[in-house]
Amino acid sequence: MPKELTDLEDHAVCMSCAEHIFKFFEAVWKPITLYERFVQNHTASIAGEACCAICNHQMSKHEDFYRLSVEEQFLIPIADKLSEDIGGCEHCNGNEDSYHQAGEYLSVNGVPDSLIPLFLSLLKCPCGFGRHHPDRKDSHSEVFTKYSVLYTKQEVDSLYRFDAKEFSEFAEQYGEKITAEDLQDFRQILRTNPTLAYHHCTGIAIYNVLKEHFDHGHVRIISAGQMDLYRGRTRPTDSETPYSIRDLWTAPTGKSSHGRYNFIGVPVLYLADSVNAIPYEINPAHDQLIDIATFTIMRRELRLFDLGEFDPEFQGFFSESNMETEQTRVKSAYLLPNYIGACCSHIGYNGVVYAGVHDVEGLEPYTNYALFDMDYELDLSSTSRPVNTYQPIVNITLKLQEQKRPEEHF
Ligand SMILES: [Zn+2]
Ligand SMILES: [Zn+2]
Repeated sequence: MPKELTDLEDHAVCMSCAEHIFKFFEAVWKPITLYERFVQNHTASIAGEACCAICNHQMSKHEDFYRLSVEEQFLIPIADKLSEDIGGCEHCNGNEDSYHQAGEYLSVNGVPDSLIPLFLSLLKCPCGFGRHHPDRKDSHSEVFTKYSVLYTKQEVDSLYRFDAKEFSEFAEQYGEKITAEDLQDFRQILRTNPTLAYHHCTGIAIYNVLKEHFDHGHVRIISAGQMDLYRGRTRPTDSETPYSIRDLWTAPTGKSSHGRYNFIGVPVLYLADSVNAIPYEINPAHDQLIDIATFTIMRRELRLFDLGEFDPEFQGFFSESNMETEQTRVKSAYLLPNYIGACCSHIGYNGVVYAGVHDVEGLEPYTNYALFDMDYELDLSSTSRPVNTYQPIVNITLKLQEQKRPEEHF
């Protein structure tokens, strides 16, 4: 039974066990064999002079072996890198759907078996659970174990953005059985082969559920002139020209950064029914102005899918940032909501309505609208309503928070 190390402080290691460790360091950091402080070459002068700390092998006479020492200060940056993709743990995200066990997570990331306990003690979650440097040795109960539940950033993202359980229950009332696993598999299809989504059995089931919902009359209707709707965009304080109404409309199809909506083929217009909510939706920086357009509903009626009907707690299903981001990588957390949006559009919904998530003192509750395939002046218009420019005034209050300060080494 190979032993696992909880530190790398001066251990004798046989050549074959050391091989895995060298490969690992070379892959994640640098070849430690270049440095005497990490790897010392030894030759046993008598049989049994040393015993491998990992496989217990007794060195025979003249056998080469190593003494390995890598101080914690060099391991911390490696552990940080390994922690980079951790989005949550059972302490901050519960244990509903166990995605990864910490030991298996490290193993998949190339950590040799013999070093897993060592790196488990150094991993950390954004919530603060995990390694407590510099005095982590007295808080072993607080570090990850092999069987601790871990979520990657992407998984946490989808946990928040799309609650599979709620959708399963929603589907069940229309006689479709869609499990969390089905949705997980379907996400994979959306990532790798989106054009097949409509032919995949889960894709079909999702479509059918939404269609049933629509046919049962679950439609929120808003009508011409019923309310004003607002859309804003930030720009640098020193830019001279405000955005025109055209700039505040949706990006033309195919012009959005990488075609996130290409497989949907429908431009989405994000609006809110409160002008005061706009800054909370688009997060201006301190050196930015906000141009806000006011729109009137021109179409006789818009038929909307009310997200609150299947999950009142649901937040961030569609979001402004989803569309505005310049990143070229597809955020897989958005793929499923996007697919649902595409189905809604095809079925006859003109958009999705959902409660605004920002609960701020002095801000009245508000509602967000994501509208599909709108035509300017035909469906919505802002004729004779000027684009207004606002300067957001940010009030920041500092509240002192006690922190453990790590020792400074520089
Ligand atoms: Zn060994
Ligand atoms: Zn956590």
